[in-house]
Amino acid sequence: MAIDDQEERIVLPEVWFSASEIALRGHRLYYEVGEPRSLREADGRYRHDHKGRVALEAFLALPLEAVWEQLEAVRSPVIGEPAPLDPVRDRATFPELIGFVDRFGPFGLGWNRVQRVLNPDADRLVEENWRLKLAAAGFTGDAPSPTAGTPVWRLVSPDLGRPFYPYVEQVTTYPDLPWAERVRLGDPKIYHDDLGRQGMASIGLARSDLLAAVRLADALSRRRTFELRDAIRSFPREPVFDVRGHDADSSLAIDWRSANLGMAPSDGVFRPFAVHEATVDWVRLGQMVLIEHISTKFSATSIGLGLRNDIPTFGWRIGSLIEVMYRQLLDHIREHPDFGLRTCDLCGAPILQVRREQRWHSGCSQTGRQRVSRATRKGRSSSDVVRTGGSKG
Ligand SMILES: [Zn+2]
Repeated sequence: MAIDDQEERIVLPEVWFSASEIALRGHRLYYEVGEPRSLREADGRYRHDHKGRVALEAFLALPLEAVWEQLEAVRSPVIGEPAPLDPVRDRATFPELIGFVDRFGPFGLGWNRVQRVLNPDADRLVEENWRLKLAAAGFTGDAPSPTAGTPVWRLVSPDLGRPFYPYVEQVTTYPDLPWAERVRLGDPKIYHDDLGRQGMASIGLARSDLLAAVRLADALSRRRTFELRDAIRSFPREPVFDVRGHDADSSLAIDWRSANLGMAPSDGVFRPFAVHEATVDWVRLGQMVLIEHISTKFSATSIGLGLRNDIPTFGWRIGSLIEVMYRQLLDHIREHPDFGLRTCDLCGAPILQVRREQRWHSGCSQTGRQRVSRATRKGRSSSDVVRTGGSKG
């Protein structure tokens, strides 16, 4: 999580940071944030990598388990003297990870949820305590309390739907030191992502949530009841839905009652796995669960306004690359609701299909086709596995 001030982070709508320097330290990936870049390429398509994959597709193909193992291995020699930064080693050790950030920019996990705040009461108490200490030691005077670095307060908000309260904390930053030195000191105001397995804004949590959404979107494209039931059952949400009437709701509000084909529950709570499966509209329920989920992922976004051909136009101000991936998923289910997502036979990443039965990403297809024809030439006795690699959780 980074704590950079909101006002420092404002970029134009549909634009996300690039990373001009990347350094790994412990579990943290630090960035020197470079020029913001447009999310889309000249033809209007989302930026994609050399395999033709957009951020969502490439992210779900990152070998995170291997990254976590490597992080432990790289970290263990760091006992006592802090090891110097070694971007060359980082690139060699984590080629997919660093390559991803090079192409798409920092992950920005939780960046939207941290804001600088003023805390004058606490500042005053610190000063008063300092004076009391001085007085108790027999000194008089008005010298401000000495600090290493610059202390700042920040407000950390939880993800919507996570059971935590927002909290205020003080951190120390070193704005006058060079970037590499600040990284070495773990300056929390240097943009970074925590790559640890756990934590409030962990990359693992981001992936498992996104993967659940991708699976549900894919199941929705086929509208098969049993598949949808499974996808909803394993979705990271308690399958308990409020079906009391809400008169003041917006016309866009999700109405869980529409998924209940049976009697209205007397306690106002719809439990689809506790009633007969034929009394549940599983497609409708799946759609609503998915849209609610994507909506919570956008809860920290803000609207930006720009001009397109002199016409004021809304755009969204991106707070994390994860938001971009959910936007890609949302675009997909709006534009191609029946095509689903299948797994690339070559790289193992999901494909946001724009037609049925796409076996490869555009950049994977040449190698994929070659492998298929080679396997075919080998004769039908060989049942060679065509697909390789690409670990996907
Ligand atoms: Zn692929």
